Amino acid sequence: MGRIFVVDLEGRAYRCKFCITHLALSDDLVSRAFHCRRGKAYLFNNAVNITVGPQEERIMISGVHTVADIFCCCCGQMVGWKYEAAHETSQKYKEGKFVLERGRIIDGIDSEFYINTRPDVKPCNCRRSSVV
Ligand SMILES: [Zn+2]
Repeated sequence: MGRIFVVDLEGRAYRCKFCITHLALSDDLVSRAFHCRRGKAYLFNNAVNITVGPQEERIMISGVHTVADIFCCCCGQMVGWKYEAAHETSQKYKEGKFVLERGRIIDGIDSEFYINTRPDVKPCNCRRSSVV
């Protein structure tokens, strides 16, 4: 008892921003469209190396959910929450899934995520006409 067992994930993984411990596989990423009080959050099918806090009822935009905050097992930082139960039928798909706050995780492969966000390169037609 008491020994922290850290799982190393194979492949693309999201990590704790604070101690670089693996938290979730990018293959388990369900949605990037979540939001929390502090900004963007991602929904995952599974997460590892976390401890789950006490359950509580939380009123969210999408209805009342029973959730529990989740913490990195290595550094103890809160990294997101787990949906234990959803009261709305349409939200049931979230049950047992994990949300990690974008601002508290790093993916280590950021550069690959930006490949398809290539900005439209427009020739700059503006001339500095009034340089004195
Ligand atoms: Zn950590």
